[in-house]
Amino acid sequence: MTEQIQNPFDNDPVLRPIHHFAGARDHAAPQERLNDVRRRAPRFREEMLAQEPAVYYRSFDLIRVPYPTRYALRDACTVPTPYVHILNRMFVVQFKGDDGMKTLLVSPSNIRANRETPFFKRLSERFGFLRKPIEPLIAPELGIVETCLASAGIHPAQVDYITYDHLHTQDLRRWLGTQDQPAYFPKARLLVMRQEWESARALLPPQADWYCPNGTAGIPPEKIILLEDDIMLGKSVALVRTPGHTEGNHSIVVHTDEGLMVTSENGVSPDAYAPMHSKIPGLKKYVRETGIDVVLNSNTLERGLDQYISMVQEKEIAGPSPRNPDFYNVVLSSELTVYWLFPGIEPSFSFGPLEFGQPHIPSS
Ligand SMILES: [Zn+2]
Repeated sequence: MTEQIQNPFDNDPVLRPIHHFAGARDHAAPQERLNDVRRRAPRFREEMLAQEPAVYYRSFDLIRVPYPTRYALRDACTVPTPYVHILNRMFVVQFKGDDGMKTLLVSPSNIRANRETPFFKRLSERFGFLRKPIEPLIAPELGIVETCLASAGIHPAQVDYITYDHLHTQDLRRWLGTQDQPAYFPKARLLVMRQEWESARALLPPQADWYCPNGTAGIPPEKIILLEDDIMLGKSVALVRTPGHTEGNHSIVVHTDEGLMVTSENGVSPDAYAPMHSKIPGLKKYVRETGIDVVLNSNTLERGLDQYISMVQEKEIAGPSPRNPDFYNVVLSSELTVYWLFPGIEPSFSFGPLEFGQPHIPSS
């Protein structure tokens, strides 16, 4: 099925391949791979910042879910609380393409369908008969894609593209349609790295725990744009391959009024990208003892060394946050948040709701 999709650049004036990081990870020596990625990041960053920012960028909170601390912060955190809360969010991005305004949804999670993901389903079933009453407390829903988008005045038919930094927990069928159901976003196509798409459809057991069963089944091939490597969308958005958390992972880079915002799930908190400045117990000590620069989100570690390099790449692209230069402009799709049920672990820095610019709504 995937072979039917040839070159996405032939028939889409918005997408353009970029090669800033091509070959940077080909070195045999891991230090050289890391150094090469570090060397190349500033030019990429400068080129993006020299162009126009996105017209509109806004985050929407969808759901908070419990997540094992040992995955979120590896063995760096010394607080014994077994779970942290992570906030899952979507980003709406509008930018100019050569043929007009384009709307991209980053990480639009179908949070109710995603509950079928084996890891989270087992977690929920552990509560037995208490599951129903306790679920709103443990995993409170904050918004759903449909109403979030409507609140910004954006119609489903305006959405041109959707993308996810990786496909863990995602069920795409409602958004893109199947033989049995029409697409909620009739025009939208999925931008996904070929590796991630192939992985999601041929999982090994260590991967399968995190992917929603049948979440990609039956989606028409013309709705899928398979990417081999990094691309620009117009002049304000880039998708950059950042393998590690999953083999097919990518980061979404958006030029906003507050610099380049970088989104992925290689790490779960700005603290994880600047552990030397973190107040979370254990992180600074971990840096001193190991010399690590970043703390990996560790539930899958499909390519662990690459994940380390990818997190450094992400923070070098993002640059320091204007809000607090000790931390980076990494706006994660699942971000560690403080929650009364899981005491003792509080991020030192996090982004609240973000909104830049005004939504573009066609007049007709
Ligand atoms: Zn994930």
